[in-house]
Amino acid sequence: MATTKIDQERCKGCEMCIAVCPKKILGLSDKINAQGYHFVEQKGPDCIGCTFCALVCPDVVIEVYK
Ligand code: SF4
Ligand code: SF4
Repeated sequence: MATTKIDQERCKGCEMCIAVCPKKILGLSDKINAQGYHFVEQKGPDCIGCTFCALVCPDVVIEVYK
């Protein structure tokens, strides 16, 4: 099973990764980071390692491990 590693302090909450995830397992946290943004979390275990989220993120916040 693949998983993501998200650098939550660098996330701007733009939601681009959320939009492209085919499994719909990414979502914004209720919490905010030090920059004041709601950051992305992986909400479920069903990551297939497609890396779409990592590729679309403008700030290279997400790493995917298979
Ligand atoms: S690697 Fe693919 S399935 Fe996994 S969280 Fe990113 S977009 Fe979703
Ligand atoms: S695309 Fe990057 S900056 Fe935007 S919400 Fe996702 S992880 Fe955060």
